[in-house]
Amino acid sequence: MATLSDRVAHWIRPEVRALTAYHVPDPGDAIKLDAMENPYGWDEALMSEWLAALRQVSINRYPDPGARALKRRLREAMRIPAGMDVLLGNGSDELIQMLALAVSGAGRSVLAPEPTFVMYRLIAQVAGMDYVGVPLARENFSLDLDAMLAAVEAHRPALIFLAYPNNPTGNLFDAEAVRRIIEAAPGLVVVDEAYAAFARDTFMEALTAHDNLLLLRTVSKMGLAGLRLGLLVGRSEWLAEIDKTRLPYNVNTLTQASADFALQHRAVLDAQTARIRADREALFDALRRMDGIEPFPSEANFILFRTPEGQADRIFAGLLERGVLIKNLNPAGGLLADCLRVTVGTPAENRAFLDALKDAVGGAVPGL
Ligand SMILES: *Cc1c(COP(=O)(O)O)cnc(C)c1O
Repeated sequence: MATLSDRVAHWIRPEVRALTAYHVPDPGDAIKLDAMENPYGWDEALMSEWLAALRQVSINRYPDPGARALKRRLREAMRIPAGMDVLLGNGSDELIQMLALAVSGAGRSVLAPEPTFVMYRLIAQVAGMDYVGVPLARENFSLDLDAMLAAVEAHRPALIFLAYPNNPTGNLFDAEAVRRIIEAAPGLVVVDEAYAAFARDTFMEALTAHDNLLLLRTVSKMGLAGLRLGLLVGRSEWLAEIDKTRLPYNVNTLTQASADFALQHRAVLDAQTARIRADREALFDALRRMDGIEPFPSEANFILFRTPEGQADRIFAGLLERGVLIKNLNPAGGLLADCLRVTVGTPAENRAFLDALKDAVGGAVPGL
């Protein structure tokens, strides 16, 4: 009789057993600045209106599988060019998974610069694909265009992911370099604009110029992370095929109704994201003035910063002791050694973070 662990080892695919599950820490009572959430809620009047809208939902019925009303709203809110199709996912994470499922096969690969959003690698591995990471430039995390083009030529990837702005580095890649990669790619290029609400550029208009370009957006970072709604935009020739990997009714009724409602009140979300952009600049300046801290310019709602060599884990732990949870990227190593990432919170949360950081750095580096 085989033991339980023998059976698990026999039946679970080796590439799945080799994975480390995506770890989400329990924030407890800490100020939560680890996950790029919008810190602002809605006022009472808006809450009541939202709950009234939810009363109209027929919870006993399956959702509209095509989510037609919501798609119309998203087309308008996100200025999706006429002629481009839209596919919805349970978060953009699900769309990344659908993309991988649609193209996976023996010898097929996913390519992305490194460091970037970890789900590209994780999902490629779950789908049984090879993953090729091409290092970004060390000084400023810009694309190494020559290395990217050489890797595209060598690996002929089915999928290339470019997060624009990039997570966890926060910068926008050079748009001309991105265009060169799209033109050189034999397969699909997905420009992931999860942080579009905080950035000064987009590839939305460029969709019409490139028939192998798809655009990924999400409502998560603009203030609706709890809804789980992402969208993939591009030509129907691609999306009709990718749609076949989607489970029916993947975007539930409450999400459809709530997103539709929220987008009708987009001015509220826009004011919140404008506020976050302004506070990001104040936070960046404060970090730059701090001894031993090197923040990197950001076009997103978070800031990556480097801490004195060998101190990141202690500073991260010191922040948590002082009630502030951010993201420790030091364990990822490579270009992210000594780096931490903080999400822009409310002014009071940012203040609390800066105070805690000052204490934690002082404690970690005698003499600072
Ligand atoms: C947060 C993030 C996502 C995930 O978005 P969801 O819609 O919440 O799944 C996708 N891409 C990047 C680059 C992100 O940082």
